[in-house]
Amino acid sequence: MADYSIWVCEYSYVAKYHKSGVIYGAHNQGYVKLPYCYVVIKGKGHTIMVDVGYNNKEYGKHLGDKFAVENWRSPRDVLAKVGVKPEDVDHCFITHCHFDHFGNVEDFPNATFYVQEREISKWVWAMSLPDRMRWMMTAVDPGDIVRGVALARDRRLVTVDGARENVLPGIDLHVAYDSHTYGSMWVKVRNDGKPNSDDTWVLAGDLVYVFDNLKGAGPAVDLDDIYLPVGLAVGSQTNLVLATEEMLSHVDYEVRRVIPVHEERLRDAFPSHVAEDGLRITEICLADGEETRIKA
Ligand SMILES: [Zn+2]
Repeated sequence: MADYSIWVCEYSYVAKYHKSGVIYGAHNQGYVKLPYCYVVIKGKGHTIMVDVGYNNKEYGKHLGDKFAVENWRSPRDVLAKVGVKPEDVDHCFITHCHFDHFGNVEDFPNATFYVQEREISKWVWAMSLPDRMRWMMTAVDPGDIVRGVALARDRRLVTVDGARENVLPGIDLHVAYDSHTYGSMWVKVRNDGKPNSDDTWVLAGDLVYVFDNLKGAGPAVDLDDIYLPVGLAVGSQTNLVLATEEMLSHVDYEVRRVIPVHEERLRDAFPSHVAEDGLRITEICLADGEETRIKA
């Protein structure tokens, strides 16, 4: 029995991203393609997003250009490929406030947003610091934080303090404080609804970018099968390694069940196709009775 379908939807990408950005300390090891994606979860009468991408306007577009993001498409176009309209989305779980994850709340007018309390409050703090300390704001659009506060004013923001079980049936929220960001959240889907599920998926946000963060970088290093933290942390690499351990412990250490959304090789691990717009849809799992969105 499976309650939910999960799709990873690519909405743009960086064609050549320094590998040292993806893996901490991987200097002079070339480049990787870095897809930018959000996740759609559908089932139990709900349409849910994990992160919402960015809107490609104003400062969001400035950041996209700075990171050399290409081929941006709107949620309306991207979600149509899995049969979803932005208006259908009722819950958005925001893993963290980087522009490419929290930069498009206005396209989801009927959704309630969930973010860790520490995540949004610490970005307000970081914004208030003198300009000489603005390194922390790398990849944050201050306008996104302001729009997040406006969501709270409009009673559409839920701030979560730590873990929350069954935020929707079979879906739990977890946190890794002071890791990639101040309050990076990860989402656990127990797709059989059982407390000790046999069918668990972890949506990792940016706590891992690619499979290498989960399993070591293979022949490029002497030690295989060690966790290698992502290249960007406002907290610590230690906390990233601890978060990786915790996420994997929830899926019996089956690496495939922790989903890194910036991983191009998801296409090899799951059914996927690249549409005419050059963007990939990856089908992680299907709810009972749901039809595949992957074209043969
Ligand atoms: Zn991030």
